[in-house]
Amino acid sequence: MKNLKTNTYQFYGKARILIGRLVILVILIVLMLPWSGFSQNASAKKKKSDTPNFIIIFADDMGYGDLNCYGNPSIKTPNLDKMAYEGQKWTQFYVASPVCTPSRAGLLTGRYPIRNGMTSPARGVLFPDSRDGLPQSEITIAEVLKQKNYATAAIGKWHLGHRPEFLPMKQGFDSYYGIPYSNDMDAVKGPMDYYKNTDDPNFSSSPEYFNVPLMQNENILERPANQNTITRRYTEKSIEFIKSNKGKPFFLYLAHNLPHIPLFVNDEYRGSSQRSLYGDVIQEIDWSVGQILKTVKDLGISENTIVVFTSDNGPWLMFKTHGGSAGPLRAGKGTTFEGGQRVPAIFWGPGNIKQGVVTDMGSTLDIIKTFAALSGTQAPNDRTMDGYDLSETLKNMAPSPRQEFFYWGTTAELSAVRSGKWKLHLLQKEPVNYSKSVILEKPELYDVEADISEAYNVADFHPEVVQQLQNVLKVHQASLINLLPDNLKARIEN
Ligand code: MG
Repeated sequence: MKNLKTNTYQFYGKARILIGRLVILVILIVLMLPWSGFSQNASAKKKKSDTPNFIIIFADDMGYGDLNCYGNPSIKTPNLDKMAYEGQKWTQFYVASPVCTPSRAGLLTGRYPIRNGMTSPARGVLFPDSRDGLPQSEITIAEVLKQKNYATAAIGKWHLGHRPEFLPMKQGFDSYYGIPYSNDMDAVKGPMDYYKNTDDPNFSSSPEYFNVPLMQNENILERPANQNTITRRYTEKSIEFIKSNKGKPFFLYLAHNLPHIPLFVNDEYRGSSQRSLYGDVIQEIDWSVGQILKTVKDLGISENTIVVFTSDNGPWLMFKTHGGSAGPLRAGKGTTFEGGQRVPAIFWGPGNIKQGVVTDMGSTLDIIKTFAALSGTQAPNDRTMDGYDLSETLKNMAPSPRQEFFYWGTTAELSAVRSGKWKLHLLQKEPVNYSKSVILEKPELYDVEADISEAYNVADFHPEVVQQLQNVLKVHQASLINLLPDNLKARIEN
């Protein structure tokens, strides 16, 4: 009996202690609530503002097949792969032109280069002896965001005019740091034919052979720029800009000079990739992306920052292993085949961009309207714009509003059109040496969703689709007719 009593007392005693501990635990949980996950969501919501920061990271001549997350088997891109996993990977994303200058003009203005003046029948891109640049009358993404006092910086390759009246500060950017045109220009030893003649994928040139300037605003800091350290220095400058503007809305346009030929890489990344020097360069760019995303995360501004990574055009195939890969796409840079204009595109923005893979169409031409929608600013409405607002696709995976795309060749030739899954070619370039154009006797039709490599011309099977796309072209041409120089106008009217 005594033992039973003792046991009962012990049982109630233990139960009291247990209940006491439970009460303390409940009190502790209630006290901890302000620091728990519930309030993290609440504070994240609080942190989101109506003026998100924007970062565009633009590679040069990087192909559709050069990232691990787009199928490359021998280049490791863990930071871009993670960015794609956390954000949105677009598989049918187009640039405004298959070469540098007009592609950049299209991105920044949301208008085909035939409208913004950055294409010409004479020359595909600007050169160090060019006297022109992006007209002052054009309105860039930076100028749109200035409506809400964004801090703006252009770092890297500009290629929209290197004379003082065309530099980034004349187009809405507060500052500029970079090489103002392509990294193969001002070649001391003349043309780069020796690159085409080497079979060594690790052949590396000396920066002294390319007398390109590195500029800070309007001043030349260094000439020739040491291109071996250029990716690293662009990254450091970008991080500096992000840190010093973390308290206000900012727009960073980081346009790498690489992997455009000639290839340069910091010693730390030389030999790092199975893919040879080209892979080393991509892996250093991947490192750079990782550093920028880490900075954004460490500063606690990731819920309020949208980052876009893409490329200005497809791979420069004539340089063989020194050029990139378009993966399954046909041809590369300089052509209006898919390999010239379809590029990797990743959008990242935790809490803002819905995770997933988007297989609808999009374009760099759409970014200006998309950023305007996300920031509550007004995209230009006094001129014809060629872009769409993709913000609902980014936020909610809504279908992309883009159903059409027009392919303008390197020297202002309207070469092809895509509507839905169909693509009609009127004019083609040679896939590798794109200096030669061929006007097709009969237009070629491809179903680019069933036939990603544009291998099977099905025009004879679908004459009604050919007719329908020719009508789409006529509407586009009608919107341009007053803008065109006479020689182009004659070509289109015929
Ligand atoms: Mg390029």
